Amino acid sequence: MGERAAPYIAAPMPIRASDLLTLTREGLYCPLGRFHVDPTWPVERALITHGHADHARSGHRAVLATPETLRIMAVRYGEDFCGTRQEARLGETIRVGDVAVRFAPAGHVLGSAQIAIEAEGVRVVVSGDYKRAYDPTCLPFEVVPCDVFITEATFGLPVFRMPDTRDEIRKLLDSVALFPERAHIVGAYALGKAQRVMALLREAGYDRPIYLHGAMEKLTELYKREGIPLGETPKVVAAERPKLHGAVVLCPPSTIQDLWSRKFPDPVTSFASGWMRVRARARQKGVELPLVISDHSDWPDLCRTIRETGAGEVWVTHGQEDALVHWCGTQGIKARPLHMLGYGDEEVESAEAAA
Ligand SMILES: [Zn+2]
Ligand SMILES: [Zn+2]
Repeated sequence: MGERAAPYIAAPMPIRASDLLTLTREGLYCPLGRFHVDPTWPVERALITHGHADHARSGHRAVLATPETLRIMAVRYGEDFCGTRQEARLGETIRVGDVAVRFAPAGHVLGSAQIAIEAEGVRVVVSGDYKRAYDPTCLPFEVVPCDVFITEATFGLPVFRMPDTRDEIRKLLDSVALFPERAHIVGAYALGKAQRVMALLREAGYDRPIYLHGAMEKLTELYKREGIPLGETPKVVAAERPKLHGAVVLCPPSTIQDLWSRKFPDPVTSFASGWMRVRARARQKGVELPLVISDHSDWPDLCRTIRETGAGEVWVTHGQEDALVHWCGTQGIKARPLHMLGYGDEEVESAEAAA
């Protein structure tokens, strides 16, 4: 053997990260799989990381997402939110076009997932929004080793270090005990944050009813159906507001300063958000009792996560991109900001609540 000349076969071009993922007008696009991830415009095929309005939009022809995310989208947009839908079970490998995709928990809200996209041994992970902090309402973040890690940077500045959420819940309960005559009006995003606050209150032993603004009701019911115990959560009856002394009431952030809130007995206005880490923001929003509770990674967790994925390259989608890109440089990790528009939960969710 050996003397016969081997037939000439051109060596295949090694696959590049840009074959797996690139940036288009609609958002991140996988050319080999022919799908978008969290597109901001209607597309043929969308893979969705989680149910927040800036990532999960209606009107796509086909959607692949976790069963929980699909149900959240149906609650928000109606059953006809897309043409066809397919469930992605966590950990299961699914063939889409010429790539393999796998959804892994992101620890952000119920059903939230990172999406790993792989072909010929090259793996890109789109993390969507994620956090490492404790959250009893969803599965914890899973580190997925990869070549390229796509991260958000909502709190991508070294000043953002979030406290233990259990201490923040304690502040709320201390205030309720101190002012038994006053109602506590807590602003929280309708998907994820509100239910996380309720679950943390229950874990801290609070067993009285937690009152809900109408905008919180459907998604809270969905969480309960998904098996998250949240206890008794009656909807506020408008006429009964003046009688709710000492009650804890959850409402959309845009409502805490509304006439709606002022009908409660001597209300204490509170807001559960990572942004409450910025004192000026709390003051500017007239928040008396800021609760620093974030569904995004703080600075140490962003850095830790990037390191743990072992990625040699990082793309930063949105938020405080520059500091994180700079930090990657100091660690010998290639990084670039994508400056993506259309993302950022707060703006979208507030606009939604105000509509
Ligand atoms: Zn989100
Ligand atoms: Zn987001």
